[in-house]
Amino acid sequence: MQCEIAIVGAGPAGLSFARALAGSGLRVVLVEQAPAASLSSPADDGREIALTHRSQQLMRQLGLWDRLRASEIGLLRDALVLDGDDREGLLFSHREAGRDNLGWLVPNHAIRRTAWEAVAGQADLTLLDGVRVAGVCTDAAGVVLSLADGRSVRAALLVAADSRFSETRRAVGIRARMHDFGRTMLVCRMRHDTPHRQTAWEWFRYGQTLALLPLHDPHVSSAVLTLPQQEIQRLQALDEAAFNADMQARFDGRLGTMARLALPVAYPLVGVYAERFIAPRFAAIGDAAVGMHPVTAHGFNFGLHSVEALSTRLLRARRAGQDCATGAVLRSYERSHQRATRPLYEATRAIAGLYGDDRPAARALRKFALGLGRHASPFRRLVMAGLTDDVAPATRRDAAAPFAGLPVR
Ligand SMILES: Cc1cc2nc3c(=O)[nH]c(=O)nc-3n(C[C@H](O)[C@H](O)[C@H](O)COP(=O)(O)OP(=O)(O)OC[C@H]3O[C@@H](n4cnc5c(N)ncnc54)[C@H](O)[C@@H]3O)c2cc1C
Repeated sequence: MQCEIAIVGAGPAGLSFARALAGSGLRVVLVEQAPAASLSSPADDGREIALTHRSQQLMRQLGLWDRLRASEIGLLRDALVLDGDDREGLLFSHREAGRDNLGWLVPNHAIRRTAWEAVAGQADLTLLDGVRVAGVCTDAAGVVLSLADGRSVRAALLVAADSRFSETRRAVGIRARMHDFGRTMLVCRMRHDTPHRQTAWEWFRYGQTLALLPLHDPHVSSAVLTLPQQEIQRLQALDEAAFNADMQARFDGRLGTMARLALPVAYPLVGVYAERFIAPRFAAIGDAAVGMHPVTAHGFNFGLHSVEALSTRLLRARRAGQDCATGAVLRSYERSHQRATRPLYEATRAIAGLYGDDRPAARALRKFALGLGRHASPFRRLVMAGLTDDVAPATRRDAAAPFAGLPVR
């Protein structure tokens, strides 16, 4: 099979990227190991994805946002950071950010479903589902993917969107820095007596980190708990009543009675930053380029940035009649995406390290950092600019005409 662009991985990043190429005339093949049935009706994986204003705009342009059901969209008005047994905390307010809200919360499975719906029937797109990529071979002319069922795909450019543990990234010889945080994150949708007031909590207690992500219903949130894996496994083994009581106690009863609405799901925390995002005839996007620790809620926001940064450059080169998979086009993508992601990736590692450390010196530093934030409004505004993604897009040209091939919905 022959095409211009082969994408490996039909997760949120791979599907969004395929959608961004709609109407361009580029022939695209998307290879995914999962069967199409699980892509059209993705299972609830417990993840609630906090999205910035910029990401909402990109999802609108890609035709994903308007496919979400109203009940799937939670408004994130404010964010509260608490340390230890603190009650006051550091508030990041939408008013101070000059916005109606800081962002939105949307279930990951809803993003996957809408991305799937958006590419359904897309001209020039072929989906090869239920099959893994078994081998990759690149040369100056292009790339050949060998599939596990014996078929092969020849393309001018291979785009890896096959998760933070990307095998295609490894196949082309790109190293990645991985950081195992030695912690596991448990996520669980819960009903609680006290309304969440559309405020997210990040609560760095001693020995555990808690978060509360406000969902559409004022009494329903995603409760998030970070602990060593063996403690998470003990919690997962509890029956419903014991689990609810345990979570209520961890949240210090501040939300009143808590009752789970779904089974808790656990995610081991490993951050990944690829040393290169490109190689000859190759580019990595989504988690295959940058796999974030969820504490700063930026994984898919960065994934959308990679989709925008790469697709706009490819489409621009194509309109200019150039080979879109040349080194200059790919290098420009890499620079843009590194600039957009590296500072927050490093800051997130530092935050997760500091707030996961309960030694006396770290506790003092934690208190100092939050006290500084409470009294320094420029610091708060800087953090909020990151939350809402009010920072300038990587290049002005990216912002001017993203996804130029797309029909307007
Ligand atoms: C608990 C948690 C909370 C999070 N919260 C947020 C948040 O608040 N905000 C935010 O922006 N992000 C958040 N994220 C991150 C976000 O979920 C990810 O960044 C995003 O889902 C990554 O999408 P992706 O398409 O790059 O990769 P994936 O979703 O991992 O998809 C990869 C796809 O590739 C396929 N694949 C893999 N290998 C092969 C192969 N060899 N052949 C064929 N197919 C293959 C897989 O089947 C899969 O479909 C969170 C993550 C977690 C774990």
